[in-house]
Amino acid sequence: MTDQIQPQPGILDIAQYVGGAATVAGQANAVKLSSNENPFGPSDKAKEAFAKCAHSMHRYPNTHHMGLRQAIADVHALEAERVICGVGSDEILHLLCQAYVGQGSEVVFTEHGFLMYRISTLAAGGTPVEVKECDRTTDVDAILAACTERTKLVFIANPNNPTGTMIAVTELERLAKNLPPQAILVIDSAYSEYVEGYDGGAELAGRLPNVVMTRTFSKIYGLGGLRIGWGYGPQGIIDVLNRIKGPFNLSTVQLETAEAAVRDQDWVTRCRTDNARLRAWLAEALAEKGVPSDTSTANFILARFSGPAEAEACDLYLQGEGMIVRRVSSYKLPHCLRITVGDEPSCRRVAHLIGQFKAHYMAGDLV
Ligand SMILES: *Cc1c(COP(=O)(O)O)cnc(C)c1O
Repeated sequence: MTDQIQPQPGILDIAQYVGGAATVAGQANAVKLSSNENPFGPSDKAKEAFAKCAHSMHRYPNTHHMGLRQAIADVHALEAERVICGVGSDEILHLLCQAYVGQGSEVVFTEHGFLMYRISTLAAGGTPVEVKECDRTTDVDAILAACTERTKLVFIANPNNPTGTMIAVTELERLAKNLPPQAILVIDSAYSEYVEGYDGGAELAGRLPNVVMTRTFSKIYGLGGLRIGWGYGPQGIIDVLNRIKGPFNLSTVQLETAEAAVRDQDWVTRCRTDNARLRAWLAEALAEKGVPSDTSTANFILARFSGPAEAEACDLYLQGEGMIVRRVSSYKLPHCLRITVGDEPSCRRVAHLIGQFKAHYMAGDLV
């Protein structure tokens, strides 16, 4: 490479995304609680649909995604024409940046917001603008104060990752209605299915001219390995995204499996109920051992320690016992560990091990 060969401005500022670890050296059967995956996996109906696709792999997929879009529309009472499907919701976030952000544009998100917001902003040549949260919770007034005539997008994950907190729909609406006229509010609802009675911002995205909602099959649907997500918003915005979307971005197996998955809402309800029960148990068990957390609305808990040293020591202790959780220093939370709510044995084990760790750490056995 010569000095003359240079990527677009911003790209060299991107720190590559590192996913949650899946293995620990020397631990053959490590339990992975680092990527907010559904411990029960996808529904049987989704697995059946996946298997059937083995017979049609020589055929190109369709480009209109109408089967999946209609299924999503039926289940959520939306307009199929306004649904766009992508390779994870990451692709939808990326398309939004590609379409609406360029040099001189600003993209606003919160200090503990999802790392992909920064990456997609810089990839499009835009300028990330990070806003303070209030006690690890989105602060609408701080976001509004950070907006300018250059703000093109505002990204809010609700519930947020990695904090697990969320704000009310009325607050999202207040935010959308007070944005500068050229700005779009993107409500990232990757975890919304975990919140009983919450529509993920669907109604707002259906009604307001400047709100887009993104959703994923990676979390409660248990299909993270397959890479499927979708977005919903004003027809004009969805039309713009469709112009730049790759025509064959989703394979037949992605489309068919996701369609079967979204039509099986019984599985979603069961997973939500189980998660709520185990999450409450885990949060309480950790609190009893001196590890507090904010009330989580998602499928993980942000466990707080006395400082970065203790969080790191706990992470290493858990790794030594074959449990993988997520360090969140890159989210400016170096004193915390994000722990996915796993199945019941994993919850019991991680709580037990953190209790043991605390006892050793307090006694000064581990440094
Ligand atoms: C997991 C997650 C997503 C989903 O990403 P996919 O590309 O759909 O797998 C989106 N936003 C947040 C905040 C997440 O944590």
